[in-house]
Amino acid sequence: MRYQRSSALFKAAQKVLPGGVNSPVRAFKSVGGTPIFIEKAKGAYIYDADGHDYVDYINSWGPMILGHAHDAVTDALLAQVKKGTSYGTPTELETQIAEFVVNAVPNIDMVRFVNSGTEACMSAVRLARGYTGREKIIKFAGCYHGHSDSFLIQAGSGAATFGEPNSPGVTQGTAKDTLMATYNDIESVKTLFENNPDEIATVILEPVAGNMGCIPPKGDFLQQLKTLCEENGALLIIDEVMTGFRLAMGGAQELLNVKADIVTFGKVIGGGLPVGAFAGRKEIMEYLAPNGPVYQAGTLSGNPLAMRAGITTLETLASLDNPFAQLEKTTKKLAEDIHSILNEKGITHTYNQIGSMYSVFFTDKEVVDFETAKTAHNETFNKFYHHLLDKGVYLPPSSFETWFISLAIGDSELDRTLSAVRSFEG
Ligand SMILES: *Cc1c(COP(=O)(O)O)cnc(C)c1O
Repeated sequence: MRYQRSSALFKAAQKVLPGGVNSPVRAFKSVGGTPIFIEKAKGAYIYDADGHDYVDYINSWGPMILGHAHDAVTDALLAQVKKGTSYGTPTELETQIAEFVVNAVPNIDMVRFVNSGTEACMSAVRLARGYTGREKIIKFAGCYHGHSDSFLIQAGSGAATFGEPNSPGVTQGTAKDTLMATYNDIESVKTLFENNPDEIATVILEPVAGNMGCIPPKGDFLQQLKTLCEENGALLIIDEVMTGFRLAMGGAQELLNVKADIVTFGKVIGGGLPVGAFAGRKEIMEYLAPNGPVYQAGTLSGNPLAMRAGITTLETLASLDNPFAQLEKTTKKLAEDIHSILNEKGITHTYNQIGSMYSVFFTDKEVVDFETAKTAHNETFNKFYHHLLDKGVYLPPSSFETWFISLAIGDSELDRTLSAVRSFEG
């Protein structure tokens, strides 16, 4: 049996970890079968407990944009470990990475580091509420901003995969302050503003959605959103946890020319260690404790090990000759070649791609929001998924996720992937 040891490890894990995992999508509930247990990773590849290797298209869900165990990052971490991993005091390193981020990202003067994207988005919303003195927020169906209560009203990926738009444990009181809009539908946002005058603290969104599959914004949707926020005295939070340092050094703000009031980060900014951050103009960020009244803190926030992985990843990216163009080129080729192979086979599908984000959807509809994403045929995706897995290609185990392409993926990895797609029977 191909996945014998993974199966045994999963069995043992399920006895002591709920569902055998520490984050739900990893359990393969959506695609079925046994999750693959990984033992090590290098470059474009992950290696499982049964001795197979896979071209990796999740890259830890985004952080490993340089590829796994990149030498510069590994060396920086090893050197830091010997000096201690956390002090709970200020360090010069935190200022260095903050300076880097402020210089690279438009419209921000100051950054606060946290330990996850969830924390970043949760804290950004608290800051927006404190700053505006308002309580309601607008989010979009299918956008994911971490698992904090305010966002689990109709979340993407994990929750959508299980057909559970709302999670028990989120109170009615919390739910009533989160208003749901439709992605790429500016009228749905206008209506919410009209019906809730002077009550909306913030609109939060993924500038390119990745948690209902990859869905780019259409036309000037983002710019119109910013205008609506300005007209109504609300702050625009652009959640760049996925897109930050992935679509461009300045993230979606730079690539798509939109201005955020608060930006959130995670994934790439931590280079594979647990890091999140939120950032904004000085007058907004100074509203945070200890200078301002909005409380936010963290024992391990800004710890030197995580900061070292982050700054080394960002500096390495910055030292490369146009890494984002290379990522775009690789991803575009991947997307177009898969498209033509599936077309030849007469398999109904569509795809979205922007920069190093890509999803194939087995539907005849154009996918522009959560409703259209949900028209994709799950059974076909699951067959596609397991076919590629058996051929040594690791995709995100749900059709409601974007693929993440890393700089380590080159011609031979594309060849393996495309030849696996060629033998897919639909
Ligand atoms: C992954 C993700 C989050 C949550 O980050 P965690 O580090 O998993 O808590 C928030 N927003 C977006 C857009 C994400 O992709």
